[in-house]
Amino acid sequence: MEKTYKKDDILTVTIEDFSEDGLGIGKADGYALFVKDTVVGDTCRVKIMKAKKNYAFAHLEEVIKPSSFRISPSCEKAKACGGCQLQALSYEKQLEFKETRVKNNLIRIGGFDKEFIDSISEPILANDNPFRYRNKAQYPIAWDKKTNAPIAGFYAGHTHSVIPVKDCLLGPEEFSEIMSIILGFIKSEKIPVYSAEEKRKGIRHVLLRKGFTTGEIMVCLVFSDESALKDKDKLISLLKEKKVASLSVSINPHDTNVIMGDNYKTIYGKDTITDYIGDLKFNISPLSFFQVNPTQTKKLYAKALEYASLSGEEAVWDLYCGIGTISLFLAKDAKKVYGVEIIPEAIDDARENAQINDIENAEFFVGKAEEVIDRIWSEQKENHDSNSDGYKMTHPDVIVVDPPRKGCDELCLSTMLKMQPDRIVYVSCDSATLARDLKILCEGGYELKKICACDMFSQSVHVETVTLLFKLSEAKHHFEGVRFTKKEKRYV
Ligand code: SAH
Repeated sequence: MEKTYKKDDILTVTIEDFSEDGLGIGKADGYALFVKDTVVGDTCRVKIMKAKKNYAFAHLEEVIKPSSFRISPSCEKAKACGGCQLQALSYEKQLEFKETRVKNNLIRIGGFDKEFIDSISEPILANDNPFRYRNKAQYPIAWDKKTNAPIAGFYAGHTHSVIPVKDCLLGPEEFSEIMSIILGFIKSEKIPVYSAEEKRKGIRHVLLRKGFTTGEIMVCLVFSDESALKDKDKLISLLKEKKVASLSVSINPHDTNVIMGDNYKTIYGKDTITDYIGDLKFNISPLSFFQVNPTQTKKLYAKALEYASLSGEEAVWDLYCGIGTISLFLAKDAKKVYGVEIIPEAIDDARENAQINDIENAEFFVGKAEEVIDRIWSEQKENHDSNSDGYKMTHPDVIVVDPPRKGCDELCLSTMLKMQPDRIVYVSCDSATLARDLKILCEGGYELKKICACDMFSQSVHVETVTLLFKLSEAKHHFEGVRFTKKEKRYV
């Protein structure tokens, strides 16, 4: 009979893998143990905290034999903060772990053959700067009763208590200098600090952004009400010295996890800062979405563009287009790009971004990708005028998708299969849903040609992947519509 384990049991395990959220996984007689603060290769003594039938969460008591890949984290707060799940793992091994995760998901969930996946995989696009790559930070502000001073940092996992972090090693050095000026100002000017528990109004968050190419810095202070900001001229003069290009205030009176208010007011400098991805220019406001690692984004999108293999004559869909970054990259090499995004403000930005980059062959639609393309398909499928826009939209040469973690919708996959583009480029931030969707596309008449992972978020467990699919011959396309099986639905 299999051995059963219970709470408080002490075991010795060797960590073999990482979970999606960065916990080390070890096995005892086939029973899986999830252990925080361990890395692959560690042999450790652990104590079971919560035991389930097939797995348990365990506490690390002692690393008996450290993994040869274990390094001492550069940030002293790495363990408490939880944002950098892989900091104790050498960067080389982080890359290997991410590449393997993508491949394993394609094999396990996608049903692809290991040799086949190995043969079409390109090396992961490594991050030239595995630290200080983020252009954005959002610090919660709290009042520390012990030191009687304001602190800024990160929430301790799933709580509202703030762990003070003076210098987050993922962001630029200037951010820590600016934060210490702001904290000093809050203290000296007695600016009230917000607390939901104590029902106190005041400052709640500070948003910082840096345009890596332009060097411009943006500061946005988030308050719970208008009255809390006092003596703003003093703050302006302090931040001017740090070359802050834009200082604004956003009011968010709601006791929710949403950080920003609905709008913002500039109190010094410009409303937006400017940055570039490749040679595309973007104006970024405190409320706009912008990729947090523009250097790796450029590499990822260059790969997507390479896979799209455009000659200048193609009609291309960019589904889940956000602020149109990929669309604009594609537009330079395509005849026409159609972008779709669910958030109206992102489409406003996409249109503005097209304009400031003098791109006239990109058209954007607000709505759910699946609904927009299904509607256009239904309206235009009888259109046989190959010079018309309607025909090109229903017979695109390439479809690019970059969905959120839950992957593409069933109707989106069905409609893509009906439209039969020559190539599909699938950009993904979750290789489990990617694998599910690739399986469906391959069953629907496509062939997986290339895979390339990209490390956008070094030190964390997240990995981006870009894949290329080719249409097989027409005869293979017999398909009735996509329905996820019960198992596939698990990933939605
Ligand atoms: N390609 C973009 C953003 C990709 S992130 C970029 O490179 O910046 C995924 C995007 O999909 C988000 O902007 C999200 O708002 C959007 N989204 C989520 N569900 C959607 C749906 N059903 N239809 C269209 N867009 C959707």
